[in-house]
Amino acid sequence: MKLSRQFTFFGSAIFCVVVFSLYLMLDHIDNGKSPNGERHPNSQLNILQDKIDHLERLLAENNEIIGNIRDSVINLKETVKDGKAYPERNISQGISELLPPAPVMLPIESEDCQFAERVYSKAADGVQMLDVYDLLSFDNPDGGVWKQGFDISYKENEWDNESLQVFVVPHSHNDPGWLKTFDDYYQDQTQHILNNMVVKLHEDNRRKMIWMEISYFSKWWESIDEQKRDAVKRLIENGQFEVATGGWVMPDEANSHYFGLIDQLIEGHQWLEKNLGVKPKTGLAVDPFGHSPTQAYLLKQAGMSNMLIQRIHYSIKKHFSLERTLEFFWRQNWDQDATTDILCHMMPFYSYDVPHTCGPDPKICCQFDFKRLPGGRISCPWRIPPQAITDSNVQERAQTLLDQYRKKSKLYRTKVLLVPLGDDFRYTDALEWDQQFENYQKLFDYMNSHPELHVKAQFGTISDYFDALRKNIGMDPVGSSVGELALPVISGDFFTYADRDDHYWSGYFTSRPFYKRLDRMLESYLRAAEILYSLTLANFQKYGKPSDYPTIDNYKLLTEARRNLGLFQHHDAIAGTGKDFVVVDYGTRLFHSILNVKRVIVSSAHWLVLKDKQTYSHDPSNPVLQMDDVQAAQDALPHKTVIKIHKKPRLVVVFNPIEQARRSVVTLYVNTHHVRVLDAFGHVVHAQVSAVWNDATHAATDVFQLSFIAQAPPLGLSVYQLIEGMEIRTETSKYMFLKDGRHISVSGLDNFRMSYQQDATSVEIENPHLKLSVSTATGLLERMRLKDDGSEHQVNVEFAWYGTTSNKDKSGAYLFLPDGDAKIYSSSQPAVIRVTKGPLFSEVTTTLTHVTHTLRLYNIQGVEGQSVEICNTVDIRGENNREIAMRITSDINSKNRFFTDLNGYQVQPRKTVAKLPLQANFYPMTSMVYLQDSSARLSLLTAQSLGTASLKSGQLEVIMDRRLNQDDNRGLGQGVLDNKITANSFRLLLEKRSSEETQKEESAPYSYASILSHMSFTYLNHPLISMASSPDSVDASFTFYNPLITSFPCDLHLVNLRAIQSKEEGGGPSEQAALILHRKGFDCGFSNRDTGLLCTTTRGKVKLEKLLTDLKVKSFTPVSLSLMHNTQESEAESQEINLKPMEIRTYRLELS
Ligand SMILES: [Zn+2]
Repeated sequence: MKLSRQFTFFGSAIFCVVVFSLYLMLDHIDNGKSPNGERHPNSQLNILQDKIDHLERLLAENNEIIGNIRDSVINLKETVKDGKAYPERNISQGISELLPPAPVMLPIESEDCQFAERVYSKAADGVQMLDVYDLLSFDNPDGGVWKQGFDISYKENEWDNESLQVFVVPHSHNDPGWLKTFDDYYQDQTQHILNNMVVKLHEDNRRKMIWMEISYFSKWWESIDEQKRDAVKRLIENGQFEVATGGWVMPDEANSHYFGLIDQLIEGHQWLEKNLGVKPKTGLAVDPFGHSPTQAYLLKQAGMSNMLIQRIHYSIKKHFSLERTLEFFWRQNWDQDATTDILCHMMPFYSYDVPHTCGPDPKICCQFDFKRLPGGRISCPWRIPPQAITDSNVQERAQTLLDQYRKKSKLYRTKVLLVPLGDDFRYTDALEWDQQFENYQKLFDYMNSHPELHVKAQFGTISDYFDALRKNIGMDPVGSSVGELALPVISGDFFTYADRDDHYWSGYFTSRPFYKRLDRMLESYLRAAEILYSLTLANFQKYGKPSDYPTIDNYKLLTEARRNLGLFQHHDAIAGTGKDFVVVDYGTRLFHSILNVKRVIVSSAHWLVLKDKQTYSHDPSNPVLQMDDVQAAQDALPHKTVIKIHKKPRLVVVFNPIEQARRSVVTLYVNTHHVRVLDAFGHVVHAQVSAVWNDATHAATDVFQLSFIAQAPPLGLSVYQLIEGMEIRTETSKYMFLKDGRHISVSGLDNFRMSYQQDATSVEIENPHLKLSVSTATGLLERMRLKDDGSEHQVNVEFAWYGTTSNKDKSGAYLFLPDGDAKIYSSSQPAVIRVTKGPLFSEVTTTLTHVTHTLRLYNIQGVEGQSVEICNTVDIRGENNREIAMRITSDINSKNRFFTDLNGYQVQPRKTVAKLPLQANFYPMTSMVYLQDSSARLSLLTAQSLGTASLKSGQLEVIMDRRLNQDDNRGLGQGVLDNKITANSFRLLLEKRSSEETQKEESAPYSYASILSHMSFTYLNHPLISMASSPDSVDASFTFYNPLITSFPCDLHLVNLRAIQSKEEGGGPSEQAALILHRKGFDCGFSNRDTGLLCTTTRGKVKLEKLLTDLKVKSFTPVSLSLMHNTQESEAESQEINLKPMEIRTYRLELS
């Protein structure tokens, strides 16, 4: 009976395919009829040839599909007959092979659309940062001693009824790399700080200290003996020493993707759990250059109740000080139920150093930085030095300091005051500890023994402060219920940061873009390696562990990669604001980790695809599978290895790292154009052979690009074979060069058809969804047409230069200080425009002096075919004080509104504000920027973080690289002159909006990408990973691996499946993995055209057990984001995943 049902299914599948083929034929005939006047005159023959090619292709495609159906049916029969080893796998592989390229209506549950549609209002005491920008004049008047603020006054008797409680919190800001490398800072400074900490805190139990960066702390921990470790544990137990945040680093919040933010937090917290057993309650970030609500959300999900931020635009600090809203509940823009609130303290003044933390007057506060006592290495720039506290001066000194404390406390709503005491790499030597702690203790003792002063001053940790604050306002110790004294609710973000005048920190959104891209590549490879490794370990429980598989070595490689990636999330690393040799140190770490996680990927994939698991052997020097893509050095672009094709098949294993089924073009380099591609069933797969270009016009004659469409099951491995030989279904690309009267010498195209175009009619490339028109004058995009409804939009791509101002302060690694509007780029050499057309993709490559720009369209029905791939290879190494931007000008009436993402997690609506300088209107873009009007949305999705703006209605701009000759006076002490040849990749997506935008929506502080846009981003950032079998292992027998029966819901993203450390010594994994899921918020308001998605939505609910083919869920426990806290929820009982829109959740999962 089961069999007959399956036959019915395949019967209907065949029917669908036949109907669809007819549809394609009709479609084709239709196209043939329409006049195509825009072609150049001698192309009649080409058109005819194209048509014949197309028909041939259709025929072959049908044969392929029908062949697949036959195979699947045969497989099914066999399965039912003799119950083969992996029956479900065969069926599901059969189905995924069968998926016809037919129009699929996106089956989104209407209930799932409601989240984005709901219009809601802000809290009664709510502040929306977008509104604050409207309120402020940004006029920057001189505020007196507090230059960017105002005079603060108070009445002597204000504290008579309730004393001022002062918590002086000693801290040391340790950058894991900036002016020195991580290791050098550790050697020279950090280890001494921590060593002295143990000694000096033990001398007096009233002394306190906090620490943030686990990268440093763990390195130090490894170097100290048990006795010292016990001493540290005692200091933690008695509350003298506190770990705040506890991430691997204090991350950059602009350029970091939430994958990296979460991973470095887990790495730090896992270390804490294993070695110290502490659970941080408070997040603290004094130095990141602007703050993102994504980080607030992640801290909250990790179980933290409080947080502190510092680098905020000086005008906003002043405004918040006047409104006394420097302490608030930070709520996510999209949060409709007030579940994301986290108590946040914003520091009011210019910096986190001592002169700017005791009160409004830095000249006075500096006198209370006792490291600057006369005779020391540093002094006060305000020229009044500190005085050591003695019996004779203590009264005056205490009163002077108290005056500053009182003034500062007037900016807050309670009588509890936080006074950080520290700076970069402070407390390195014993003398400094004595100077600070002894002098302050004398001041405290004096204050506390004079009741008429109404003050209680003491050293505290950051949580001591928040505990007292919560008690003071009648809040419970961890919750977010607003106490009697209400604190405001604030939503939005704190970009773009300015610390003074027009000094906006928007340069670092792009600085060192080569490494911003390298970061994203490691993220993608690391995630793929984590998932494959976890699946491999889970399968060992079923099939037995092969003695050869390097379980512990691979776990060590993963751990090292997590830590190198974590290190790079630091606010001077991914930000691109370190010294040149520090950048090289980070780059080398990223580069080695990419190599290492690739080893984890190939060794795991090899075992998973083996037909006979007994034959597994691991030889790291000669692995059976080899990654097709290699990078020669930390500063080199990746390139493809050439796969040598023989009569005997070379096997290629393709891993789909995303959790939805997908059809994507795989491109490999091969040594011959006579090549056939076969799928796992031995059927010939349609392929395209193109040239490999040495430069714009010279092709290599011994290497070819081979592209084919891979069918890839969710998180699965597919197997293809490459065999030498002529094959009608392997087609060669056709090339066309635009001549424009010039002589162009083209070489190496003997195996391809090639032509020249002389006239000025625009060039067009198209696929089933899109038609692009490219200017023959510039070689750049001019128009985009959506074939669904025939609507056409002007979408003009151009490049532009920014220079830097002639003023004293110029652009540098942090700051963007342009010399006015950008000037349109014109290439010193005339552009070389090369058009490639073929059955699987078409592209236009335009070579300019500083940029090679490629516009590519995949001829795929579905996600991959819906957007335009843009790749810019940029080289500005010969320039001085210049930044190069890509600008896209459209006819979309976006006015001054546009949208950028924050950390790839959420979208923040933006307004281009005329009252602010140009550089203030640039924002970080981690995953996307878009603009829209009532009828269309144009999104640029990105594979690397860069700075973006929309300076005019309809216009998007992205800075791609910057080369700056000078320092910008923020401590780095150098310019940015270490530019590399950098490849920036994007997808450009044009969507038709189906719902009219209402007035209310226009001012809404939230916006969401469509599912198609989310999915396109995922495709761009997580390409298929191809591995070729080594030439000496031709006899290997591989089969596909398919862990999931169906795709995850479209809106459910598998952030990671990360093996959890074992509690035992030895550095291996436990049997559990952290399953981290994110349910994306999405907007359904786009036309129901064929998006080709191979997934649906399920209201955030998934029963994991039902998703797995072979594996069983052995245990499943919901935990906090970083695995520190168990959460009491019913999910554990039912083993059902249940996520709200936008939610990120972690589960401890054991599969077997
Ligand atoms: Zn720093």
